[in-house]
Amino acid sequence: MTGDFESKVVVVTGAASGIGRATVIAFAEAGAKVVAADVVHHDENAGRFDELGIEAVDCDVRDLAVLQRTIDGAVERHGRLDVLVNNAGVQLVKQITEISEAEWDQVMGVNLKAAFFGTSYAVRHMQRQGGGAIVNNASNAGLLPRAHDPLYSTSKLSLVGMTRSLALCHSKDRIRVNCVCPGPVGGTEMYESELRLAADVEAQRKKSIEASPLARAFDRAITTEEVAASILYLASDAACMVTGTAIAIDGGKSLGVPPKTD
Ligand code: NAD
Repeated sequence: MTGDFESKVVVVTGAASGIGRATVIAFAEAGAKVVAADVVHHDENAGRFDELGIEAVDCDVRDLAVLQRTIDGAVERHGRLDVLVNNAGVQLVKQITEISEAEWDQVMGVNLKAAFFGTSYAVRHMQRQGGGAIVNNASNAGLLPRAHDPLYSTSKLSLVGMTRSLALCHSKDRIRVNCVCPGPVGGTEMYESELRLAADVEAQRKKSIEASPLARAFDRAITTEEVAASILYLASDAACMVTGTAIAIDGGKSLGVPPKTD
C-alpha cells in the first residue's frame, strides 16, 4: 500500500480491466472512496468491487457529457474529488497509410482528448477545494516512440506533453499533474491482444520481455499492481512536491537499445 487515502475520493477511467482494475483495488484498500468508470463491466469484478465499496459506473470517455457527469456525480455523492486517474486507453498497431480518420478519432479521443477534458472537469472541483492530483496513464511509447504503432505512440507522446503543460498551469492551484509510462504489462487485455497478433504468441511474449532489460532480468512482464503502486505514489501526499513528471515503469525499456541477448 502506498499512502493513506482515508476520506479521499478517487475516479479512475478504464477501470474494468488490467491496470485500471488493479488501481481501483489498490486505492480502495488504502481507504479511498473509489469510482471505477468504464465502457464495459466484467462480472468477475463484482465480488471484489462490492467487498471494497468500489462503485462501477458506465462511462464511455469519448462522450464528454458522460465523462463530465461521471466526475460531477462523484463530487455530488461524496462531496469532493481528490484524485482523477486518466487511465482508459486503446492500442492500434497499423502504419500511417492504413489509418483512417475514424481510427485517429478513436485513439486520440480515448488516449488524449478524454484525458484533457477529464482533467478540465476535475480541475474545476479541485480549484474550489484548494488542490488535488491528476495521474495520466501514458506508456513507454510516450517516452520513446515505436515504429509499429505510430498513432498510439503519437497519442502517448502527446499525453506526456499535456501532463507537463497542465502541471505548469495548475501548480498555483496546488493541483499536481503527473503520468506513469508503463510496459510491457502482463495480464492486461491490451498486452495480451497485441501478443495474439503474432503467429507464435509465446515467442512474441519472450521477445517483448527481452526488450525491457529488467523484465528480462526477472524473466517476467511488469505487473498491473506494480503500475498501480506508482499511480498511488503520485496521487499521495508523499508526492506533494512532484508535478509534471513521467515515471517509467518499463524495466528500463525506454532507456535505449537493450544489450544483445546472446
Ligand atoms: P486493458 O485493455 O486491460 O484496459 C483498458 C481499459 O480501458 C479497458 O477496461 C477498456 O474497456 C477501457 N476503455 C477503452 N476504451 C474506453 C472508453 N472509450 N471509455 C471508457 N473506458 C474505455 O489495458 P491496460 O494495459 O490496463 O490499459 C490501461 C492503460 O495503460 C492504457 O491507457 C494503456 O495505453 C496503458 N498502457 C498499457 C501497457 C501494457 O503493456 N498493457 C503499456 C503501456 C501503457
